Amino acid sequence: MRPFTYSRAADPAAALASAGRFIAGGTNLLDLMKLQVETPDALIDINHIGLDRIEPEGEGLRIGALVRNADLAADPRVRRDWPLLSRALLAGASGQLRNRATTGGNLMQRTRCPYFYDLDTPCNKRAPGSGCSAKGGFNRNLAILGWSDACIATYPGDMAVALAALDAEVHVEGPAGKRSLPASGFHRLPGDSPERDTNLEDGELITAVTLPAPTAGRQIYRKVRDRRSYAFALVSVAADVVMDGPRIGRAALALGGVAARPWRVPEAEAMLAGQAPSDDLMGRFADRLLQGAQGHGDNDFKIPLARRTVIAVLRQAVSAGDRT
Ligand SMILES: Cc1cc2nc3c(=O)[nH]c(=O)nc-3n(C[C@H](O)[C@H](O)[C@H](O)COP(=O)(O)OP(=O)(O)OC[C@H]3O[C@@H](n4cnc5c(N)ncnc54)[C@H](O)[C@@H]3O)c2cc1C
Ligand code: SF4
Repeated sequence: MRPFTYSRAADPAAALASAGRFIAGGTNLLDLMKLQVETPDALIDINHIGLDRIEPEGEGLRIGALVRNADLAADPRVRRDWPLLSRALLAGASGQLRNRATTGGNLMQRTRCPYFYDLDTPCNKRAPGSGCSAKGGFNRNLAILGWSDACIATYPGDMAVALAALDAEVHVEGPAGKRSLPASGFHRLPGDSPERDTNLEDGELITAVTLPAPTAGRQIYRKVRDRRSYAFALVSVAADVVMDGPRIGRAALALGGVAARPWRVPEAEAMLAGQAPSDDLMGRFADRLLQGAQGHGDNDFKIPLARRTVIAVLRQAVSAGDRT
């Protein structure tokens, strides 16, 4: 690890006034520093800036950026009204990691592309302009949607996929003031600048995530991975489906593990609204959601896997019976 200075901020203003890299749970940043993929000169510990509460906001909920993943998953309000979020969090990492990992840090975690972690190989995300080793290399975990010639990495997290389907907002504060971004637009597609993972500007601090009023829909998170636990998603589906009698009232579905951001397509969701569920409709929906998908050899299997998983989740969501 390279030398760095360490300071502890007492409140958000102090954190924003300090020049350096925020550190929260440290479960991703420290790993990257040990490998020298990241080499910040200064770390600003934000664990004690008072953003560790979950509070009601209108009919929704405000989640401080320093709330631990374990605490958020266990919160009785989240388990009752936004079970999708609780399930996505519990599908991630391990109990020990969830005890440390924070809401803000989870959103900001970096890709698990193996070449990003290997300083001996070219990687445009780590060293812009050096090339992409994953194209033509080992790319089993990588993107089938939204990738560019510069980078085919995925955003690896679970929580953000649920937040995208739940229409959550991410609140940030920075040198230019406060602003909010929709969770579904927080992460960026790589384009020509894969070194930028998110739409956060330099120096901005995530302060909170807000959830709108619950929809009373059926909420499902299904994560397909190589092992039953302690593995990142090959494909995941977060769904919140509200039935209107025998018809679909509203359906929100986001895919994880397939792109550099949670993948949500409003035009595809519009195909479902007001329709009676059928195999044909669900197949057409999945095809529209995955329109343009293209693999790179090792990960071609993700396209049929994602299609099957979307249809299975939708079938479960529209079926009668237990609503959990
Ligand atoms: C073995 C292993 C398995 C894992 N499996 C999964 C999994 O299956 N699913 C999953 O979703 N995750 C998984 N993770 C990732 C884990 O969830 C993340 O490491 C964790 O959520 C990051 O949160 P943190 O608070 O520790 O962030 P840190 O490591 O402290 O920070 C990560 C980044 O976020 C920035 N940051 C932190 N807080 C803020 C803020 N408030 N505002 C702006 N920037 C901020 C930091 O500067 C840094 O760049 C796994 C991790 C490991 C090590
Ligand atoms: S896919 Fe992206 S992160 Fe992976 S090697 Fe290519 S440029 Fe780097």
